[in-house]
Amino acid sequence: MQLVITAGGKGTRLKELTGGLPKPMVDVGGKPLLEHQVLLARKYGIRDILILTGFGAEHIKQHFGDGAAWGVSISYQHEEQPLGTAGSLLNAFERLQDVFVMMYGDTLLNVDLRRMLAFHDTCVSATLFLHPNDHPQDSDLVELNSENQVQALHSYPHAPGQYFQNLVNAALYVISKRALTDVWQQWRQNLKALDVCRDLFPKLLAQGEILQGYRSREYIKDAGTPVRLQKVRRHYESGRVQAGSLETALPAVFLDRDGTLNYDHGWINDPEKISLLPGAADAIKAINDSGCLAVVVTNQPVIARGECSEARMQQIHNRLDWLLGEAHAYIDALYYCPHHPHSGFPLERRDLKIACDCRKPGTALLETAKQELNINLNRSWMIGDSDSDIRAATKFGIPAVLVNRNQGPNSEDHYSEPRLRSRTVSEAVNAVLNEQFSLQPRPVVAQSQ
Ligand SMILES: [Zn+2]
Repeated sequence: MQLVITAGGKGTRLKELTGGLPKPMVDVGGKPLLEHQVLLARKYGIRDILILTGFGAEHIKQHFGDGAAWGVSISYQHEEQPLGTAGSLLNAFERLQDVFVMMYGDTLLNVDLRRMLAFHDTCVSATLFLHPNDHPQDSDLVELNSENQVQALHSYPHAPGQYFQNLVNAALYVISKRALTDVWQQWRQNLKALDVCRDLFPKLLAQGEILQGYRSREYIKDAGTPVRLQKVRRHYESGRVQAGSLETALPAVFLDRDGTLNYDHGWINDPEKISLLPGAADAIKAINDSGCLAVVVTNQPVIARGECSEARMQQIHNRLDWLLGEAHAYIDALYYCPHHPHSGFPLERRDLKIACDCRKPGTALLETAKQELNINLNRSWMIGDSDSDIRAATKFGIPAVLVNRNQGPNSEDHYSEPRLRSRTVSEAVNAVLNEQFSLQPRPVVAQSQ
């Protein structure tokens, strides 16, 4: 198996921090970014590495040589003038294997490459690693259908008034070489600079090729600006990069949607009806910053009642993502139940009128999240505004905070007993992340650090 790394970027924006080295040679935790990538490839059994060099090639070659010191085989393809990420890839076309992994030399990642390769269907032309980030407004975003096939690529800047799902192209791909053949034939006539996301993938979509999205919570961030580089260095030093592997179970804060994050206007069947409750975005951002996962689990019987389609529901969630993104907050994953047990609604969809296991207080969605995201239940919480949230949490074996805006935090009411009560989601998140109620393994015992 082959890894191709584009490493020709000049790193103009990082000049102050790199001292004139090419971007991929910038130091993170005592070694160049590129070396982290080489070690990751070796960990997952990829030993053929092709580095696409441009600016500063001699620094890279001098450091890695033929790769033998790292137990891998490294070769180089040089570009004389900048060809862009896709141009430099096409420049190496004849040296590509049938299926290969591609990454950019200025990213730090902790992704299980073997798992992503296993996901890649060789009938599709490329698999794109996708995840939410805290700046979707200035990221390249991807629109998927329910089969995880790419419908459109939206490069930033995004026009005002538009909103998309926070599903960011993280610049990690598995590509089938055969899909590039036609583009390569054309490209070699003019050798123009091309970008993978802005030029190559749209060309492939226009040719009718299938691109597939691979969503994962694993750690991947670009370090291409001074601010991002500092962040990546902080994450590396704090252990967040290491914990970003799917091998590490992470704590989660599960959140209800309507009445907890956004105003509950009865049935929400229109994206414009989504408006965040005060403090909700900052509360989610606090969860993001803590290293816990923010996972929304919501009952949406409007679908079974025939009052909102799945496509419309996606638009509603896109708008929720967008509003959170404006405050640099993001949801790691969102799960909803479209079912409803009772008949008698004029537009109802009979296939969804069932008693299911996923409608809260059912726990099937929580179970799915636990499996897909590898969640550590001993350190996880639920936050919600209804009895079904508290009951679901109890069945699932995690403590819950009841958010109740209309009543005092100590009021008596008919709810099942939550571990804590709060008036707002901010208070609830503070309490959960606070050291008093910190995400310690339960039962809580005094621990020496
Ligand atoms: Zn359900």
